[in-house]
Amino acid sequence: MYDIAIIGAGPAGASAALFAAKAGKKVVVIDSDQSVTRRAWIENHYGVAEITGPDLVETGKKQAAKFGAEFITDKATAISGEAGGFTVKTEAGEYAASHVIVASGLMTDVAEASGLQTKDGTEPRIKTIFDVDAQGKTNKAGIWAAGTCAGVSMHTIVTAGHGAAVAINVISELNGARYVDHDVLKA
Ligand SMILES: Cc1cc2nc3c(=O)[nH]c(=O)nc-3n(C[C@H](O)[C@H](O)[C@H](O)COP(=O)(O)OP(=O)(O)OC[C@H]3O[C@@H](n4cnc5c(N)ncnc54)[C@H](O)[C@@H]3O)c2cc1C
Repeated sequence: MYDIAIIGAGPAGASAALFAAKAGKKVVVIDSDQSVTRRAWIENHYGVAEITGPDLVETGKKQAAKFGAEFITDKATAISGEAGGFTVKTEAGEYAASHVIVASGLMTDVAEASGLQTKDGTEPRIKTIFDVDAQGKTNKAGIWAAGTCAGVSMHTIVTAGHGAAVAINVISELNGARYVDHDVLKA
């Protein structure tokens, strides 16, 4: 049983995985390797002078893996169950988790099979997004959404930041207190 299953390993999903795994949560990330970020050349990500999309994605995954996040290449097809006991079904298997973060970028096809409400997107070229509240909660308790699929501006700094923000909300709920992760400069 994982604490958090994350669907998608683009900037939103991998950033969520980094925060969750670094917080000591048992994390699995299921990714179908179709990130649009892999086509990008990026010069507007704060703190990074310039980077290719593939390098940003791979670096993010490595950061999360360093703290124990497990990455699986597979496609999620449905989420069943209730908060505390979800099953994420994939084309090749299934994963049990108490919470789920969907960070599926442009794709929301897991919604219908999982009873998740969607709505029209407002960002350019984004047709459909998950209907989430300000914290990233969907209409099903325990299932959250982050990044492009949650309707935020489609830029790597924003989607990565949103993945982190939603993960912090999930970690805080699991811990029963607001969570903060600050490392201090070593002397
Ligand atoms: C050509 C191009 C150039 C760009 N240039 C810039 C730029 O210069 N600067 C900038 O800030 N932004 C740029 N962007 C935008 C940037 O890539 C996105 O805003 C952002 O990275 C999206 O992050 P995300 O995590 O929400 O989605 P993605 O990066 O698309 O990641 C979503 C992940 O979810 C996975 N997934 C989806 N459904 C499932 C499923 N059912 N099961 C398992 N996995 C699933 C996908 O395989 C994918 O890996 C560019 C985009 C494109 C296409």
